[in-house]
Amino acid sequence: MREHPELRFGADLIEGLDINPSTTVIATMELPWKLVAPRLRCRPDHIVFVQDMERSHLDETEGKLPDFGVVVGVGGGSCMDFAKYLAWKRGSRLILVPSIVSVDACVTHLVAVREDGRVRNIGHAQAESLLIDFTLISAAPARLNRAGAADILSIHTASFDWLLGHQKHAEKYDASIARRCSNVVNELEDCAAEIQAVSHTGIRRLVELFETENDLCLELGNYRPEEGSEHFFAYNTEHVTGKHFIHGELVSLGMLLMARLQKNKPDWLKVLLDTLGVLYQPSDIGLEMAELRHILMSLPDYCRAENLPHTIIDETDFSPTLVDALTAGLR
Ligand SMILES: [Zn+2]
Repeated sequence: MREHPELRFGADLIEGLDINPSTTVIATMELPWKLVAPRLRCRPDHIVFVQDMERSHLDETEGKLPDFGVVVGVGGGSCMDFAKYLAWKRGSRLILVPSIVSVDACVTHLVAVREDGRVRNIGHAQAESLLIDFTLISAAPARLNRAGAADILSIHTASFDWLLGHQKHAEKYDASIARRCSNVVNELEDCAAEIQAVSHTGIRRLVELFETENDLCLELGNYRPEEGSEHFFAYNTEHVTGKHFIHGELVSLGMLLMARLQKNKPDWLKVLLDTLGVLYQPSDIGLEMAELRHILMSLPDYCRAENLPHTIIDETDFSPTLVDALTAGLR
């Protein structure tokens, strides 16, 4: 199995897709499929739509499919994971055509599924090609594409937590990887205006930075450098409220709160989020201030119950006074 998918950028990659109708399955959703279908030279016989990522549902869908040699995933994060799941179960070839760059699902080989409502990362599916079609991605709401930057910027707070874990619990730490991860954040900052504009350069840089970040995590053997307290905040938010959010926006709010807690350049982070145009204000992303307070107060219990790795959260007593200070200026 090759290390990396072949990464292709262009404005008319979909028109160039070579599809054998009888051996190809397309895994997609209604909205991206509407954009892609008219541009294909040839339509496959089997098109499956993702309903939800519950594993039992995925298995049921997979069980009804005939033999196929290639699965093409077209759409956002769930479509990527659905296609990866099918390719992994059937051992087929995999081509990914993301319709947004809002999450890194197109570069990771793990498959995020739900089991009894909880997200689990399983399997191994490596795409042979990743087609970044600028025309398709530019058709998505800019807000979704910009939010992708959060899963790269999360290195800022997550790497801080990683170092804490190393200092407190002798967790494996690699200074070279930490330094290269920090460079990824610098590179993101350099192209922040392009990402805000969702220009071709901005889209390309986001995908390239996802790939670099993912390589570094693979080299280390875990996702500690990019998944820390800001993600745990996001998970607890979905757990407490039962609501669904745009992942990158919720993670961005988490980053801002955790950077304040870590005393880790929160003002710089806020300016960068504004330059990127990623939303993080609770009222903009669908979160009530009362909910936010409850989420913060219950955060240490959540992390303990879920047995999550050590972060700044484990070193904090979330008193009402502290929560006031952390949420200052948020609305
Ligand atoms: Zn994430």
